Amino acid sequence: MVDVMAFRKFKPGNATHLSVDFVIIGGGIAGLACAVALRRVNHRVTVLEEDDVYTLEHGRSGPCRMPPNLSKILYHWGLEDEVRAIAIKSESISLLLYETGELLGKHHWDDEVMKETRGEFVFTRHSALRRLLYDVAISCGAEVRLNTKVAAIDPEERTVTLEGSGEQLRADVVVGADGLGGLTRRILHHASEEPHMGAMDMFRHDNELGYLPIASTTVARELITADPDLAYLYDQEHTTMFNWFGHGHSVLGFPIIDGSEFGLFIYGPSNSRGGSWNTIASNTDLEAVLGTAEPKQPSEIGKVSSEADMSYSALDDWVHKSGRMVVVGEAAHPLPPGSVQATALTVEDAAVLAKLFSHLRTEDQIGSFLWAFQDLRQPRCNAVMAKEAGIMYYMTMPPGEQQQLRDETMRAKRDAGIGILQASDEAEESPEWAEIKEVFGYDAEDEADNWWVEWGLLRERSKGVDVSYGVPSPIQVERAISS
Ligand SMILES: Cc1cc2nc3c(=O)[nH]c(=O)nc-3n(C[C@H](O)[C@H](O)[C@H](O)COP(=O)(O)OP(=O)(O)OC[C@H]3O[C@@H](n4cnc5c(N)ncnc54)[C@H](O)[C@@H]3O)c2cc1C
Repeated sequence: MVDVMAFRKFKPGNATHLSVDFVIIGGGIAGLACAVALRRVNHRVTVLEEDDVYTLEHGRSGPCRMPPNLSKILYHWGLEDEVRAIAIKSESISLLLYETGELLGKHHWDDEVMKETRGEFVFTRHSALRRLLYDVAISCGAEVRLNTKVAAIDPEERTVTLEGSGEQLRADVVVGADGLGGLTRRILHHASEEPHMGAMDMFRHDNELGYLPIASTTVARELITADPDLAYLYDQEHTTMFNWFGHGHSVLGFPIIDGSEFGLFIYGPSNSRGGSWNTIASNTDLEAVLGTAEPKQPSEIGKVSSEADMSYSALDDWVHKSGRMVVVGEAAHPLPPGSVQATALTVEDAAVLAKLFSHLRTEDQIGSFLWAFQDLRQPRCNAVMAKEAGIMYYMTMPPGEQQQLRDETMRAKRDAGIGILQASDEAEESPEWAEIKEVFGYDAEDEADNWWVEWGLLRERSKGVDVSYGVPSPIQVERAISS
């Protein structure tokens, strides 16, 4: 039972003039974030999710990084206290060599710079964030139907058919938040596109609870601190994320929730293909991957059992030609598993979609708002995806000139006592840091507002629509939501 009072600081947005029905397929982070965002502006929302509540809360869950461009959205929605309750603030990063354990350098996040982004960099567990969004979605009036699998979609008719019962639901807008292997992606996929196979696989860990609480791996703090070789992971002045760079391998590790657990993403080549977050990888595969790791990594703890691969193809269009179906999240823009921006982009999608639909006055705007969503989101997601691919390469570079330059540059900064993202010459900031700031500083809702002011209003005026109408206040929206 959701305690509605638990979200006392929840802030509704400006309510739409025309409320319509959204059916969202998939109750992952993208689907639930869309549900919250659309309810904030008073659209009617039904989420259809095949998982049950136990899976949603405990299932297949590993660490999740929430960069400032994500946390700022949730803070803006009034969920700052709730996010703080499930996350730990990242304070610094240490980069090490995978094969030898040498510390190449550190960087402490500058509080002032972080403040500029209006968010925080925090670490949590995937299931904790999903559960939070689920509770908020329900408390603000979304209908979330768990154990409900969509068997078919007819975007022209705007209907979805449920597996088992055959029940049909009709919506004004169908949102595909059903992930990389979902139905909506297949509807929009062009047969000519060749699947792109990522160079890396990602392994996940099975703990005592068996198959469920995984996604890469999480290890209890006590296990780590009890091991003299690993205690340094917690024995730091600041909450630190560790990133080991190896030849074709990399490991990311960081404390999550309140620091009581340590999350790991382990990258490396594997023989098996075709997995997802749900498939089990063999321990032998992981042992092979970690073969070249220096011994002080926590990857030695526990057994590994799952694997996700990264095969996907890019979609040209995220909107169906009917103008009534759109894809969001991983269904639209899959990122390598464990990427820093994978979850953030999905929440940005939700914020932008809802901002656009807060301006809905007539049904004929639906198509143009969905295309505007694509126009706004594709360049941003493509730019972030390119950066993530670059990061992946940087972390796993083969030995050679580039790798030597990478390591030498860091060692020089380390020896000079400066942060690895700081500029080493007169320049105020390093290009790496400028790039990170740009991604972190992005404000999805501002982008949607800018679109409306620059293009949306213009279109309305050109159609002879009076756009001098007032915008309802958040109080009015709150009343509408609770009525
Ligand atoms: C099981 C699972 C565990 C994950 N764990 C982690 C993690 O620990 N750390 C991390 O950083 N990232 C994790 N991810 C990835 C992360 O969720 C994504 O990178 C990002 O949050 C975007 O997710 P999404 O909501 O777009 O897609 P997804 O997370 O893939 O969610 C899609 C949802 O749609 C549902 N669905 C699909 N088809 C249907 C259908 N026909 N009918 C009804 N429902 C349907 C699925 O059950 C799923 O809940 C996980 C993903 C999954 C699916």
